[in-house]
Amino acid sequence: MDLDFTAEERSFRRQARDWLAAHVPAVPLPSLETAEGFAAHRAWERRLAVGRWSVVSWPAAYGGRDATLLQWLVFEEEYHAAGAPGRVGQNGISLLGPTLLEHGTQEQRDRVLPPMARGEVIWAQAWSEPEAGSDLASLRSTATRTEGGWLLRGQKTWSSRAAFADRAFGLFRSHPGAPRPHQGLTYLMFGLDAPGVTVRPLARLDGKPAFAELFLDDVFVPDADVVGSPGDGWRVAMSTAADERGLTLRSPGRFTAAARRLAALWHSCGEDADPSAADRVADALIGARAYQLAAYAGAARAAEGGAPEAGASSLTKVFWSELDIALHETALDLLGPPGEAAGGPWAEGWVFALAGPVYAGTNEIQRDIVAERLLGLPRGRRR
Ligand SMILES: Cc1cc2nc3c(=O)[nH]c(=O)nc-3n(C[C@H](O)[C@H](O)[C@H](O)COP(=O)(O)OP(=O)(O)OC[C@H]3O[C@@H](n4cnc5c(N)ncnc54)[C@H](O)[C@@H]3O)c2cc1C
Repeated sequence: MDLDFTAEERSFRRQARDWLAAHVPAVPLPSLETAEGFAAHRAWERRLAVGRWSVVSWPAAYGGRDATLLQWLVFEEEYHAAGAPGRVGQNGISLLGPTLLEHGTQEQRDRVLPPMARGEVIWAQAWSEPEAGSDLASLRSTATRTEGGWLLRGQKTWSSRAAFADRAFGLFRSHPGAPRPHQGLTYLMFGLDAPGVTVRPLARLDGKPAFAELFLDDVFVPDADVVGSPGDGWRVAMSTAADERGLTLRSPGRFTAAARRLAALWHSCGEDADPSAADRVADALIGARAYQLAAYAGAARAAEGGAPEAGASSLTKVFWSELDIALHETALDLLGPPGEAAGGPWAEGWVFALAGPVYAGTNEIQRDIVAERLLGLPRGRRR
């Protein structure tokens, strides 16, 4: 087995590193959860797109570089190591984009993907509802057939970045007589400024309007904005969910970079550092490296045509979300109370890391999926 990168992969890494060194803003951008920060991050997406680094794994026709999974992992490592800004376009780029490449029509790809890649249209995910989070199939928002399209009605919640985003994609109950809850759903795209849409920002722990709830009152969506077939939304959504839980949402590069910063913090504490923290720093480094190597192995298998195991993305999600908390908690313990009180990247990162076991499907549910689909254990009791 050849465990080295190829010359092409090394050259790809160098190109990414050089471009990022020349373009990453010297001063961090304001939080993307504020109007000002959102605009600054949107401008950054445009800049990435000009360099053709915004969607490296997409086909060149839509602004990508046709990068392999391994090249994408390499790009992500360089991106996070360079301390580049968070990706405000992420919901579109890593969730809806791949879904359209797999299930969309040619017209949808040509129309939706290029402006998404350029950061001109930022997307929000409108799946969760007040009574439909873990049990997504219990969603109640409806899509009713009308001349040339559908009328959306209902309420969505916890929609990240929807306070400032342009459009959203969501699941709607379109065939109310369907025999099972996950049947008769339709996956649709709609404008957040369309008549009938009310966007109400929801503040998170730090007061920033990171989320919004959406109220939909007879919002017209043309047939052209149905993804996949009407009534077949669950199948399409499960393809989006696998992307959300797996590598694409949280690549190993994010954690290897954070682990390196943690090790530097440990060294900077010198003799003041609590000796017992050394083990936790080492564990975090090992965890990040293990995730990286597992991702390389997966990329190698994919290159040979192997498909990921059922439930593998759930395992990945549990791993990275717990690793993220461990990394940030260790850093805060090293910094002591003043570090937490002063805010800054570790304190802010910790607050966000706490949400990791919740978003993209809670870890309790992911563990059930791993138990049943990966380990073949008997089906658990449902609430
Ligand atoms: C930071 C963040 C960003 C988010 N962004 C978005 C977004 O952009 N778009 C969007 O649509 N949604 C988003 N969400 C919502 C997220 O997907 C839901 O919070 C998540 O699916 C859990 O649903 P819930 O909040 O309704 O909790 P519930 O489903 O009510 O769960 C509450 C608790 O009960 C447990 N539980 C529920 N059912 C079972 C079971 N069968 N077995 C064992 N335990 C169970 C859960 O694991 C959890 O611990 C976001 C959430 C967060 C925190």
